[in-house]
Amino acid sequence: MNSNKIAVGEFCSSCGSANCEQIFSLEQVPVNCGTLYNSVDKARNATRGEIDLSACRDCGLVFNRKYDVDLIEFGDQYEVSLGASQVFKDFQLNIARRLSENFSLKNKNVLEIGCGNGEFLELLCRVAGCDGEGIDPTAKRDGVNLGDNKISFQKAKFTPESRCKPFDFACCLSMFEDVPNISEFLCDLRNRIGDRPVGMYFEIFNGMRPFEFGEVWSIHYEQCNYFSMESFQNAFRANGFSVVNSGLCYQGDQYLFAELRPSPDDKTNGTFRSKPPVSEPKSTCSSDRVSQFQNFRNKFDNRKAFWNKRLDLTPTGKTFFWGAGGKAITFLNSVSASTKIEFVVDINPKRQGKYIPGTGQKIISPKDLIELKPENIIISNAIYRDEIRQMLSELGLNCSVDVA
Ligand SMILES: [Zn+2]
Repeated sequence: MNSNKIAVGEFCSSCGSANCEQIFSLEQVPVNCGTLYNSVDKARNATRGEIDLSACRDCGLVFNRKYDVDLIEFGDQYEVSLGASQVFKDFQLNIARRLSENFSLKNKNVLEIGCGNGEFLELLCRVAGCDGEGIDPTAKRDGVNLGDNKISFQKAKFTPESRCKPFDFACCLSMFEDVPNISEFLCDLRNRIGDRPVGMYFEIFNGMRPFEFGEVWSIHYEQCNYFSMESFQNAFRANGFSVVNSGLCYQGDQYLFAELRPSPDDKTNGTFRSKPPVSEPKSTCSSDRVSQFQNFRNKFDNRKAFWNKRLDLTPTGKTFFWGAGGKAITFLNSVSASTKIEFVVDINPKRQGKYIPGTGQKIISPKDLIELKPENIIISNAIYRDEIRQMLSELGLNCSVDVA
C-alpha cells in the first residue's frame, strides 16, 4: 500500500479541513506529462485519469481529489528538464549562489528531494562546495565526483520509508506541487531533522497563474496541488516549519519559493504527526480568491472556444505548437480542432522524435521547421516569446507567434 495515497479525497491534504469545494473537472486526460511515447499508437492509447479540483476554504490549497500517483509512469523515458533554456540556467545559478550564502553550505551535506537528472543539485554542490544526495524515481546517474565533494543518487520515490544520509540542508524544486499527502510529507521531513538547525528551500510552480491570469492550460494531471503564496506558507506553518524568506521568482512570478527553518512547536509526544481531519473552519482563503476559483470553469471554456474557432479557420499542417510539456498536453487534448496541428516543436533533444500523450502529435526540433514552413506558432508561455522569436529568425522563418 502506497502511504502517499491515504489523505487524497475528501479532506485537504495540507491542513486536514473538510471545508473543500469542487471547482473544476476534466475527464479522460492523459496522466503522464514527463513520459512521452515512442509511437503514435502508444501515445494515443496513453493512460488517462480524471482531474477533479477542489479548493480548501480554510488554507486556500487547490488540489485534485481524484489524483492517483500510481498511474504516473516514472520510467526511463521520463524527461521534464528545462535545463536547455538559457533563461532557466541563469535563474538556477542565481538560486544556487543565494542558498550557498544564506545557509553557509560549504562542506555541508545537501539532500535534494525530486532531483530529476541532478542538474540543480550538481550546480549547487559546485557553487557551494558541498556534498549532495539526490533522490528521485527518474534518477539515471550513478554519482558525481567533484574532487573535494561527492554527489550520490537514489533512484526511488521519497517516502517516510526512504533511507537518506543525514543532511544539513534539504531542497525540493518543482516537485512539492506533485505530492499527494502534503502533511505526511512535511511531518516526515520535520521528524528527520529533529532538533538540528537544518534549513530547507522549496520552490514550486505558482499555482494561482491559471486562476489569476487565465493561464488555463497549466492545469495537468501530474500536478495535484495548486498553491497560492498563502496556502504554500500555511502548509509549512501547519507542519512544523517557520518560513524565514519567501516570495515570487523566475521571470517575475512564475514560481513561488520559501526558505525554511524547523519550528520548535507543535510536537506531540516528541513526534510531528500529520494533521487529522478537522471540521472547524479557519477561513484564511479570501472571498476574492474563492470567486476566482469559482470562475475558472468559464475562463477555461472561453479559451477553449477561442482556439477551436481560430484553428478551424486555418489549414492543416501550417500551425505548430512550441514546447512539449504539460501545457501542450492539456491544450492539445482539450481543443478538438488541435487535429490541425501535426507537430510539436521542442528544443530538448530527448523529447524530439517522441509523441504527445493522447493526441499523438510528433515532437520535432526547431530545425525541422525549415522544410515545414510554418505560418503560425502557438507557444505555451509568454516568457519564452523573445527566445523563440530569435530562434525562428536565425532559422530564416517569418511566422506569427501567439500565446496559447
Ligand atoms: Zn486546507
